[in-house]
Amino acid sequence: MKILVATKETQGQRANDYSFVPEREIVGFGHTHDGELVDAPCGCQRAFTGTATDAATTTVKVIDSESTPEEFIDDIVAANAEFIFSTDAEEAFRQEALELLQTADHFPVGAILERRGWLFRERTTAGLNRAPQSDYKRSQCDDAIELAGAVA
Ligand SMILES: [Zn+2]
Repeated sequence: MKILVATKETQGQRANDYSFVPEREIVGFGHTHDGELVDAPCGCQRAFTGTATDAATTTVKVIDSESTPEEFIDDIVAANAEFIFSTDAEEAFRQEALELLQTADHFPVGAILERRGWLFRERTTAGLNRAPQSDYKRSQCDDAIELAGAVA
């Protein structure tokens, strides 16, 4: 099963890259501010958030994990326990975990991904000349295209 973990690989391909998450820490989508531009200074629209450190990174890697989808979903819920005060909140994190798995599954193992709003794109070692045909757009988000408007 494929999952997303933090990586420093390809950091610096974009001038506004950042990575404060230890290598191979499992990441989630984290909180984003509605309507903020991808390249705004805040950086939330291009961030993945480490599930252990709550720190952020603009680059993640697809790796093969031996855990099952059920274990992964339970891990994401457990990692966010401090934010869960209702069954609705727990369900939201279960849904996020599912979407994390769907995003990872869209790309090959070893792929380095960046996030542009709700659009996920593979980076290559050749730099920002990536392959947009492999983009993955989070289906639940109607404004994904609009937010991704700043894709270079
Ligand atoms: Zn923000």
